[in-house]
Amino acid sequence: MNKDELYDVTIIGGGPAGMYAAFYGGMRNMKIKLIEGAGELGGFLHTYSEKTIWDVGGIPPIRCDKLISWLAGQALTFEPTLVFNQRVDDLQRQADGTFILRTNTGQQHYTRTVIIAAGRGITELQKLDIEGADRYELTNLYYTVQDLSSFRNKHVLISGGGNSAVDWALELAEVAERVTVVHRSTEFRAMERNVASIHELTNIRTPYQIIQLHGQGEQIHQVTIAHMTNNVTERLDVDAVIINHGYSGNYGSLLNWGLRIGESGLIVNEQAETNVAGIFGAGDCVTHKSKVRLIAGAFNDAALAINSAKRYLDPEAPGMAYVSSHNERFRELNKKLYN
Ligand SMILES: Cc1cc2nc3c(=O)[nH]c(=O)nc-3n(C[C@H](O)[C@H](O)[C@H](O)COP(=O)(O)OP(=O)(O)OC[C@H]3O[C@@H](n4cnc5c(N)ncnc54)[C@H](O)[C@@H]3O)c2cc1C
Repeated sequence: MNKDELYDVTIIGGGPAGMYAAFYGGMRNMKIKLIEGAGELGGFLHTYSEKTIWDVGGIPPIRCDKLISWLAGQALTFEPTLVFNQRVDDLQRQADGTFILRTNTGQQHYTRTVIIAAGRGITELQKLDIEGADRYELTNLYYTVQDLSSFRNKHVLISGGGNSAVDWALELAEVAERVTVVHRSTEFRAMERNVASIHELTNIRTPYQIIQLHGQGEQIHQVTIAHMTNNVTERLDVDAVIINHGYSGNYGSLLNWGLRIGESGLIVNEQAETNVAGIFGAGDCVTHKSKVRLIAGAFNDAALAINSAKRYLDPEAPGMAYVSSHNERFRELNKKLYN
């Protein structure tokens, strides 16, 4: 290994936790690499990129895609090395205490510490499990809603019963001619007020599931749904079908590294340390007593993980980064901002 290839910190995952860790690690003068399984930074935020976010401290209501670009911009401040389209699969500690990370492309990455910021793991949309359904994906079978106005005056069928499905059903009810919500259970896992509203504003079919799509050319024009217990079926006319069955997350072999894993994720202590020296955790993949599963919580975890990684490498280092308002590292950057 060439000495230049050894990083102080390698961050696994480029969601809010990973991006903020990349920035904060730069602030602490550390040599940072971030490896992301997808082709871009942003993590889970891409799944609701058209939504408006209100609850990130100090940031006025902002469309999530804009927040992603701001976070990514901040992550690049100290020019970390970014690696995309590689899923970290394997970790090995060397005799000198450093680690080798191996990815699905066969590449090796050398690092003195690791921050796992893997969120829900590599996520995949739960697709509709009906043979041939994929051929409608280019026409009127949707897994995300990018443009509400494209459903104007249409009959839309939405399948799903979580927060996101209920949310979309309500937004669609304002533009579509008719919205039918199909869900396998009679219970919706969403805010009470929203559940009450969908009962008012949409046609509910519960407990039902989609069992067949009927196409005319490349378009779905009817859907057969079946009652979950008595199998009674109904055939409904539709212009568009939206599937909102959530995501499956896969941590792959991350879980086989001797790390302690609890019911809600990777167990870390109040300093973001895992049970393995030199490996830290941040963001939605971790669990600790006061874990906050919000973007703001991911930032906090990331700062803790970086501070702990710094102290692991240099026990004499201060416990936290010097604040940005009085930090030499920003002197030149501030000049560029204001001149
Ligand atoms: C529908 C929904 C709406 C939400 N709305 C809000 C909101 O309004 N406000 C708010 O504050 N929070 C919201 N959240 C929560 C917020 O999205 C999460 O708290 C946040 O995304 C967690 O960030 P993270 O970096 O920990 O993980 P993620 O955003 O999940 O990012 C993890 C990244 O790690 C990558 N990865 C995983 N495994 C590997 C591997 N082995 N190798 C390489 N890369 C890997 C993944 O590809 C992913 O990009 C919402 C969540 C959901 C589900």
